[in-house]
Amino acid sequence: MRLFLLTLLFVSSVLAGFGQYVNTDEVMVVPGLDEPISKREYRVLNDLNNVRHESYLADYLVPGDGGNIISRFGPRSGRMHYGTDIKMAHGDTVRAVNSGYLTRSGWGTGFGNIMVIQHDNNIETYYAHLSKFLKRAGDWVNKGEAIGLAGSTGRARGTHLHFELRQDGTAFDSELVYDYQNQTIRDDAKQFSTLVALHRTLKPKGYANNAAIPEYYKVRSGDSLWVISKKYKTPIKDICRMNNITESSVLRVGQPLKLY
Ligand SMILES: [Zn+2]
Repeated sequence: MRLFLLTLLFVSSVLAGFGQYVNTDEVMVVPGLDEPISKREYRVLNDLNNVRHESYLADYLVPGDGGNIISRFGPRSGRMHYGTDIKMAHGDTVRAVNSGYLTRSGWGTGFGNIMVIQHDNNIETYYAHLSKFLKRAGDWVNKGEAIGLAGSTGRARGTHLHFELRQDGTAFDSELVYDYQNQTIRDDAKQFSTLVALHRTLKPKGYANNAAIPEYYKVRSGDSLWVISKKYKTPIKDICRMNNITESSVLRVGQPLKLY
């Protein structure tokens, strides 16, 4: 009896499959396109166009998987830092903050392994210092999709993600959009669809008070290497190496620990 039901299920699913095939075979001519396309392809195209019209900064995901900021946008040692550095561990998954086309996936001076995604409204996001690419230039990536793994390639002080937000080629402080401390989009930014308009409105207001990883952490009562490692997303073995201690070393209250 069970075998009969399974056979019936198989036959009906094959028939359903054929049915679908016949439907998608219908083609249509769309103005602006050289070749006729199937109805299914037309639906996909239409969905993409609709997304384009409704794209707001509120739709973006926070980059860096909850990691703290270790270096902010702005002048740094006499040169401009066009991104936000977010602490991530080597091999952590780096995700696309929104859907778009991967326009670059390769080596960049200073950046190391870098990926660039082109989103709606001519907004681009940069992901640098990666240890591995999971997608290739030309790929369409969905919001939240894994595109690479975090690393320290290029000019990187410790493992982190260098993240940039650009529009029409100009870099904007990602903290205009993101509240990294609370891992959300700023309320002020939600109704905007372009960085240019957001910047014009938010710049005069200032946007400080984000938690940053200190270069040196002062050990407090009750701390352990495990707790500190978790809190600052820095592997215990890295903390040990940078401070010439071992995993079984006893921490003293007030002892400074180098974190990057
Ligand atoms: Zn950076």
